[in-house]
Amino acid sequence: MKFSQFNTYIPYEGKIIAYNAYTNQYLLLEFLLYELIQSAQQYGIASLDAIHPSFYQALVDNGFVVEDNTNEIDKVSQLIDSVDKQEDRYILIVNPTMNCNFKCWYCYETHIKDSKMDATTLEKVSQHIKYVVENKPSLKEFIVSFFGGEPLLYYDKVVVPLLKYANQITQKHGLNFQADFTTNGFLIKPNMVDTFKELSVNHFQITLDGDKEHHDTIRFVSKKRGSYDDIVQNIILLANNGLPVTVRINYTAHNLDNLTSILEDLTLLTPEGKQNITISLHKVWQETDKSLGTKVNTFINLAKKAGFNTAQDILIDSVRNSCYADKNNHATINYNGEVFKCTARDFKSGNKEGELHSDGSITWNDKFYSRMQIKLQNKPCLECAILPICGGGCSQQAIEHIGVDYCVNDFDENKKKNIVLQRFLATHL
Ligand code: SF4
Ligand code: SF4
Repeated sequence: MKFSQFNTYIPYEGKIIAYNAYTNQYLLLEFLLYELIQSAQQYGIASLDAIHPSFYQALVDNGFVVEDNTNEIDKVSQLIDSVDKQEDRYILIVNPTMNCNFKCWYCYETHIKDSKMDATTLEKVSQHIKYVVENKPSLKEFIVSFFGGEPLLYYDKVVVPLLKYANQITQKHGLNFQADFTTNGFLIKPNMVDTFKELSVNHFQITLDGDKEHHDTIRFVSKKRGSYDDIVQNIILLANNGLPVTVRINYTAHNLDNLTSILEDLTLLTPEGKQNITISLHKVWQETDKSLGTKVNTFINLAKKAGFNTAQDILIDSVRNSCYADKNNHATINYNGEVFKCTARDFKSGNKEGELHSDGSITWNDKFYSRMQIKLQNKPCLECAILPICGGGCSQQAIEHIGVDYCVNDFDENKKKNIVLQRFLATHL
């Protein structure tokens, strides 16, 4: 037997948190037990079995000790495949437009005025849904996610017709169908709510750029009219009508101190409505200040105390819960019919990964095939204790580092330990 390469030990309040990233199990150890582990690492694992058999057995049962001939990298590889090559679910992301009614300073997308999915492309997208449901016998679930640009700019012309077709064809084949939106939330109207529900929409992600004052300097209709009040009202409308909303709050060092007023602005939520809200904090990617963690935790705890569900980046497991772009059964179709995977990069023609045909099939290019084989190619990851929860980041990060050793945690062992500690605190306290 040997110690797993995926063990991490962290001192915590006079004890030791032991974590195995493959089994995702924690043990809170008295220091004496940790000393036994240290001595077994030095003098051989058999000594531990002899001195403290029940502790040794607990380490085996929780994956801290594995068979000598275990190839742990193979196990992670199988885990990655089981997630990224799953056959029972298909995720189609559709950008009805690349245009947006706002122009946020941090947006990475190039807005294309007057860009709109035309009738021919819309038909091809519908054919793609048909093609997938007819050609993937293991499929049980189909998901359409609207993205953009602002997808609700073409609610009547693109969103509703596509949702009607998707509902109809998936129903005919006995599949579960769900749809969701990543939207700025400004264009939602009360009369859309019933249609959303009828057409199987079950989730919205809506972003706020801080409290009213900060948000309105970033997302505004005119110099005199911001958008915060309308968006908050629409979040409440959706949630009170049974439609779940993740309120993504983009933070920077400048707006982090004033976020509590957002919770106060949501007081018109019914108790059921509040259950439909998840508060999620995301650092704007241009923000370089790395010392904001404590303030983020304080706000998250406040939101929890106020009765909201919360989500934190730190809990995201990019292996077991990998990005849609890492998955085989996924395509992102832009308004002009070009096919992509990652949605966090500019949708330039040169970045496209596939061609959509009128029969609904997609011919993928070399970029796609290279993406689907990119994981576990980065040498430092193969020796990393948190590989089974990090995986070297997403496929896009791996692609952007081809030929270079990289670490999404800056090769910083303390940073990795802090991830383990924060996950422990978030799930055990
Ligand atoms: S950057 Fe990575 S996680 Fe984000 S959408 Fe692209 S592939 Fe997914
Ligand atoms: S990217 Fe860094 S933290 Fe992630 S698995 Fe690789 S070495 Fe570990």
